[in-house]
Amino acid sequence: MFFSDILGQEMPIKIIQNAIKRKKCSHAYLFVGPEGVGKKSTAFAFARLLNCKEKVGIDDKGEKHASNGDNFDLQGMNIYDSCGECISCKKIKKGIHPDVSFIYPEKKDIRIGQMRVLKYQAQFKPMEGSRKVYIIAQAHMMNKESANSVLKLLEEPPDKVLIILIAQNKYGILPTIISRCQVIKFNLLPSDLIIRSLKEKYNIEEKKALFFSQLSRGSIGKAFSYCEEKMDETKKKADSLISKTEKGDFISLFSESEKLSFSKEKEELKKILNIMLVFYREKMYEKPTREWIRILEVILQTKENIKRNINVGLALDEMFLNINRIIENKKFAETI
Ligand SMILES: [Zn+2]
Repeated sequence: MFFSDILGQEMPIKIIQNAIKRKKCSHAYLFVGPEGVGKKSTAFAFARLLNCKEKVGIDDKGEKHASNGDNFDLQGMNIYDSCGECISCKKIKKGIHPDVSFIYPEKKDIRIGQMRVLKYQAQFKPMEGSRKVYIIAQAHMMNKESANSVLKLLEEPPDKVLIILIAQNKYGILPTIISRCQVIKFNLLPSDLIIRSLKEKYNIEEKKALFFSQLSRGSIGKAFSYCEEKMDETKKKADSLISKTEKGDFISLFSESEKLSFSKEKEELKKILNIMLVFYREKMYEKPTREWIRILEVILQTKENIKRNINVGLALDEMFLNINRIIENKKFAETI
């Protein structure tokens, strides 16, 4: 992963680049921001640059200049990046570099056992690279013991160790941990950037790119995964539910909600509700009326209820009935 592959995160990259340029890297960072905006990719690009044997400098014109190994002797470069070719870059790409570790929750949380391994390894010098990098994904899922263990490590950081914590927000992370990290904020991406990159990467038409960008709401990772998976079937299912709701075909709708409530595919249900949100949001942009806002509220509430484990079938039945009632009232109001 090169820094240049990361889209729309100029500010976080600039902060990191400047720290590297000035040789003032912090020993701990907290990357905060929504899902799928490039936090993990940036962490890997960072780890790769620190350990790359043939670092490159990129000038204002985008031209690459080779540097002298570990020394950043390229003054005046716009950015530094890893070479992608040396043994270190290749090992990090394959996930087999002994100095770069990726820690993620095992089942429901990040466990103390994982942290003990990290702490043990962190006391030794890097084996091959110049810096040991520990990337802790979903850092808010550290349990109490794990969080305390990380805190101790941050209080007395070993030499040549970099810890990157990644989280969607700061909630759930001990304030004492936050205060020992440099916090870097990652933001959602603008839709035109997402549309452009979807068209370039997947060669899809404008309309489809627009739909996926609306569905992903600023998360390029989500937009890519929508493109890569078969969204067509889910889209057809959602379109059919919308049309049945508007017609008031409740016999069919109630059987659909029963099927959806028994399905183990909770992700699919989430996508269907998101497609419905995109559909009604579009309607609202075309012609803003109170009804579309109310429908959007109904769908958002349904999502919330399902998240709280309220009976899925009942929640969907209620949603179909409410949306239909709003639409019928709208039609009635338009006739008088
Ligand atoms: Zn390299």
